[in-house]
Amino acid sequence: MSILYHTDVTLRERVAECLKDDFKHNAIKTAQEVFYNKRAALVEEMGEGWEELRLHATEIRNHVTENLDYYVKMFAENAEANGYIMHYAPTDQDALAEVLDIFEKTNSQSTVKSKSMMTEEVGLNEVLEEAGYKVVETDCAECILQKAESKPSHIVVPALHFNRDAIRDIFTEKCGYEGTSVPEELTHFLRRYLRTEFLNADVGIRGCNFAVASTGSPTLITNEGNGRMVDSVPKVQIIFVGIDRIVPDLQSLDTMEALVPRSAVGSKMTAYFSVDSGPRRSDEVDGPVEAHIILMDNGRSRILKTDFEPMFRCMRCGACLNICPVYRHITGHGYGSIYPGPMGVVMTANMVGYDKIDTMTFACTLCGACAEHCPATIPLHDLIRQHRINIVDQGKNHSEEVPVFKLLKKMWSSVGFYKFAMGAGAPVMGLFTNDKGALDAKSTWMPVVKGWTSTRDFDGLSKDRFRTWFKNHKPLAAEAPVQKTEGTEGGGE
Ligand code: SF4
Repeated sequence: MSILYHTDVTLRERVAECLKDDFKHNAIKTAQEVFYNKRAALVEEMGEGWEELRLHATEIRNHVTENLDYYVKMFAENAEANGYIMHYAPTDQDALAEVLDIFEKTNSQSTVKSKSMMTEEVGLNEVLEEAGYKVVETDCAECILQKAESKPSHIVVPALHFNRDAIRDIFTEKCGYEGTSVPEELTHFLRRYLRTEFLNADVGIRGCNFAVASTGSPTLITNEGNGRMVDSVPKVQIIFVGIDRIVPDLQSLDTMEALVPRSAVGSKMTAYFSVDSGPRRSDEVDGPVEAHIILMDNGRSRILKTDFEPMFRCMRCGACLNICPVYRHITGHGYGSIYPGPMGVVMTANMVGYDKIDTMTFACTLCGACAEHCPATIPLHDLIRQHRINIVDQGKNHSEEVPVFKLLKKMWSSVGFYKFAMGAGAPVMGLFTNDKGALDAKSTWMPVVKGWTSTRDFDGLSKDRFRTWFKNHKPLAAEAPVQKTEGTEGGGE
């Protein structure tokens, strides 16, 4: 089973499960509204500057994509000059093998981690624990998920599906917490609890928001101080960098930094913004003695020079999730991937292929709100539609659909068949609706149709064809000619 995508439960089963969870829905609704309003206020404040910023970021990201070899090489060389030890991981298995090797060679037994979707993507925690190493998540939300053995439901706020009472219960059961569910009390406890873990860990593992090629610097954007503790306390540091996270220079980083927090959570900046420059120098007292960068592909480069290349611009800000009506209802877990929402639909299909995913790419209304919100102007709905086209072209859609669409194709290709079908539609439907009303909840025995009628009515078809109706109606102008009165031309009141 892929760690990235869970194929053992169908989309329908996952969605049915998620729809039962009222708390999760309300939490997502509230989060979406808060993020939406805060972002909207900041965008309005910037006026036309916002669109200029989006387009500038798009140009930068496209430029890096078109010259990826050049910038990967530049980043790697400069990072090495900073003292980082570079590891190249074409696949998730390569990345895992590199990490295990580092643990072995440095004689490490434990690690503290800060939030990293890439390590979720490769299932790092599970592999390290299986190998006998201690793994402690130190981001507040990730720590809750680890203790609860749960999966992220959002890429920016991953523990959205737990309320404060549930968190208190998790901490009580798993960490010996004895306090209340007051957030300040919970966070004070967590801070004390994690302090010991930071001080005792051998390795610090984290992700990277952007990697600056000209300076060889991995960066970290976060609202919690744990990122810097992970960076600076353990003797060994491992940073996961995706090959799609490279920006040319610090000026480009500035553009991204202006966009990401605004798009992600509607704030001008995050509490912490770190630009790292290698392990501890001989005259420094803090920082890791040894620092490694795992530069990982894991299917990312597969989309280069394809219809999906725009996805390489993704900054993982989560803005597309915050506006998506489908995400709002089926929640992050409904997608079955650690990357949910519009970006997750595109990315997951790109990374795991059409053979391994079920109907996930069809869980989209194609409303396009995500594309309008995306700071990197990625046409997400077009890419999702392209996935659907590819799935059908490769014959990987549901087999029951094939005869239905073949029949529809025949109908729309023949005038005679079309007229016959239009004429027959109302009487045939009348047989099922008893010649009146609509198909309603009583028709749930009907295959395919029940998906619609179990929750809403399907109105009976009209016996009159529109063309006949149109022919029998005289133009309004002919029935009641408009009187032109002097001085009223232009219609202003
Ligand atoms: S697709 Fe766009 S909006 Fe969605 S996470 Fe990526 S950059 Fe953000």
